[in-house]
Amino acid sequence: MRTLIRRADVFDGKSTRLREQVNIVIEDNLIREIVPGDVPAENFEAVYDAKGYTVIPGLVDAHVHLSWHSTELDRMRVDEVAVRAARVAEIMLLKGFTTVRDAGGLTYGVKKCIDGGIIPGPRVFPSNAYISQTCGHGDGRSSRAQSVLPGDRPISPFLLSGASVIADGVPEMLKAAREQLFLGASQIKLMAGGGFSSRYDPIRTLQFSLEEMRAAVGAAEDFGTYVMAHIYTPAAMRRAAQAGVKSFEHATFIDEETARVIQDQGIWICPCPQFGGEPSEEGAPAPKPPTSKPPNPYDTEYIEKSRNPEQATELINRFNLPIVFGTDVGFSLEFIAAGQLKDFRAYKKRFGSHKGLVSATGAAHELLKLSTSQNPYPQGKIGVLTAGAFADLLFVRGNPAEDLAILADRGNIAFIMKDGRVYKDLNTSARSDSSPDKPQ
Ligand SMILES: [Zn+2]
Repeated sequence: MRTLIRRADVFDGKSTRLREQVNIVIEDNLIREIVPGDVPAENFEAVYDAKGYTVIPGLVDAHVHLSWHSTELDRMRVDEVAVRAARVAEIMLLKGFTTVRDAGGLTYGVKKCIDGGIIPGPRVFPSNAYISQTCGHGDGRSSRAQSVLPGDRPISPFLLSGASVIADGVPEMLKAAREQLFLGASQIKLMAGGGFSSRYDPIRTLQFSLEEMRAAVGAAEDFGTYVMAHIYTPAAMRRAAQAGVKSFEHATFIDEETARVIQDQGIWICPCPQFGGEPSEEGAPAPKPPTSKPPNPYDTEYIEKSRNPEQATELINRFNLPIVFGTDVGFSLEFIAAGQLKDFRAYKKRFGSHKGLVSATGAAHELLKLSTSQNPYPQGKIGVLTAGAFADLLFVRGNPAEDLAILADRGNIAFIMKDGRVYKDLNTSARSDSSPDKPQ
C-alpha cells in the first residue's frame, strides 16, 4: 500500500528548523522519501493533507510500565493484569506514543499481542521482569508475613506473576538477566536503590553489590545490549556507573560530582518528572507517587533536604547530559490520564521546548539503538522522520518544537499513524480508497 502525506511541515526529530511544505511518501509501513514539490496523488491508495499542522515523529516514552503499578500487583490475578495492560497499551497509543520502553513488568504477552495485531498499542522495547534483590525496590511483597516458602517458592501473587525476579548473588543475577534475554528483552532493568512505592527499602538504601550489577551488565553486553537502572541517590548512581549501567532512571538527587561521572561515561538520564515531585501543571501541587510505604523519618528528612528539581535541571543542562522523555506511568488509568502527556509541560520548563521534544523523538532514537541485536524492530528507524523510518507520525496543531506545552493537550494531536496504519484522524483525509481501520 502506498500512502502520501501532502503539504507537511516536518520536524525530523532533531533539527531546529522544520522542513516546510514537503511530501511524505510511505510504502506499507516505511517512509520511502520526503520530497518537496508536486507529487501526483494518482499513484497512491491513501492521501492525507497535513496543511496547518506540524508533522512530528510518533512520540517515545522511554519509561513506562504497561503492566505494573506499585504494590497493587500483589492483590491481582494475572488475568486482571493482562486485561488492564491491554487497555493501557491502547490509551498510550491514542495519546500519540507509538513506541515505549517498558521499564519492567509482565510485558512479554502484551507486546506479542500488540505486534501480532490482536490489540492496538505502541511498539514495545521490553525489559520483561525487572530484577531486584531481596528486600529491594522490586521485592513487591505487600506484607512482612509473606515469607518465602522452602524451595524459594514465594507466596506473593506479585512475585509469582513473574513481573519481578528476585536475584541475590552473581549466579542468580546471571540467570535472571539471561532469562529476560530469552524472552526477548531489549535491555535489562535493575532496581539499584530504594524507591518511593516499595514498602521495605528506604530511599537511601544501596541495592545490588558492584559484583552483582557487573554480572548483569556483562550478561547484557554479551547480547549486544545494556542495563537501565532505577536509581535516585548519588551513591547508588556512582556504583551503577562503575558497574557499566548505561541508563539512569530518575537520577533525582543528582549532585555535581555525579553529573561529571555521568557526563564522562555518556550515561543516559530518564528524569521521569512525576517522581521527581514536580508538578506537571503551573500552580498544581507536587504529585505524590502511588505508595503504600509507611513514612520513614530518616528518608523524609533526606528527601526534603535533597529534593531540588531546579538544581537537578541546572546540572543536566550545564553538563549537557543526554536525556530522554519518560513518565514512569504504570497501569493506574487515572495516573496515565493525568500524567503521560502533561509531563511535556515539565520538560518544557526544565529543558526548553526543542530539547524536550528531541528527548521524546531523536534522542530516544539514539538511546534505542543501544539495544543493537536485541532491537525488536530492526526493519526501520524509530523517533525520526527520514527515509527509512517507520511510518510512525503525528499531526500536531502548532509547533511543539517552539512550545512543547502544546503536546500536554491530546486534543492538539489530530492524526496518529503507527506502522503505516491510522489510529486517529480528525478529518485530514484528502482521499483514502482503502481506509485503514480506526479503533474508535
Ligand atoms: Zn519505573
